[in-house]
Amino acid sequence: MDRIRIENLEVYAHHGVFPQETQKGQIFVINAVLYTELRKAAMADELALSTNYGEVCYFIDDYLREHTFLLIEAAAEHLAKELLLHFPLIERMELEIQKPHAPINLPFSSVSVKIERGWKLVYLGIGSNLGDKQAYIQKGIEGLKENPMIRGVKCSEVIATPPYGGVEQDDFLNAAIELKTLLTPYELLDFLHQLEAEAGRERKVHWGPRTLDLDILFYQDFLSNDLVLTVPHPDMENRHFVLAPLNELCPWYSNPVTGKSVRQMYLDLVRGGKKGDRQEEVQ
Ligand code: ADP
Ligand code: MG
Repeated sequence: MDRIRIENLEVYAHHGVFPQETQKGQIFVINAVLYTELRKAAMADELALSTNYGEVCYFIDDYLREHTFLLIEAAAEHLAKELLLHFPLIERMELEIQKPHAPINLPFSSVSVKIERGWKLVYLGIGSNLGDKQAYIQKGIEGLKENPMIRGVKCSEVIATPPYGGVEQDDFLNAAIELKTLLTPYELLDFLHQLEAEAGRERKVHWGPRTLDLDILFYQDFLSNDLVLTVPHPDMENRHFVLAPLNELCPWYSNPVTGKSVRQMYLDLVRGGKKGDRQEEVQ
């Protein structure tokens, strides 16, 4: 991807663990690489279509002077987040904060932290089979849209499907959602649990009735298989109610574990016959 580089921007600020650092202040040196598409701005020769690097420099200067952190780790983390929220064309960034006058009584030229942060592409499954299902799904989508750390929320068509897991219950409404987020996978999962709780969900029976269920299907190229989070969602290949709406949103997206596209998984499931039926899956 195209990039804009800012090198050795000097900011006089007050970050540090020692009292003399917060009182007196010192020079911090900032390096940033902003990943962003530049083609449109280049073809039109139009600043409004790009990210104004002057504005970015003043933003960094203001932010680091107006806030005080003990750690340059914290300064970098917060600054990267604010830059990504404030300048919407930046997809991801590398940010380095150097502290050339850190209080170390040894000869050295600088110490620094460097982080990489950005908007991650995520696909979710959303479902409801209790109460006003359509309203719960709508409320879940609104909750996602209201979080400033989430943007670009797109929802597939909502489909109705019979229940899963052998528990006697009402039909489900299901859909898939695409979004971009600055939340980590575990922060996103916590937020999804919060939205489920706000919809009054009680976890009594596994695979039992629920007002709102939000699952992470894909989180960019992130992989995990621990007690809290399994991503990509392990059973998606067998679930018609996951693959049908997902195929509408991102047919060419491929599972980072198997390399199979969503479209291929969907076709294999449909052609494989009965495997996608919720009831038969558990027998
Ligand atoms: P299910 O969605 O399979 O019907 P629940 O919604 O009750 O089950 O979730 C049970 C647990 O599954 C959650 O507490 C969560 O920690 C865990 N989990 C593991 N992987 C995922 C994932 N990819 N998305 C959502 N929850 C997950
Ligand atoms: Mg779930």
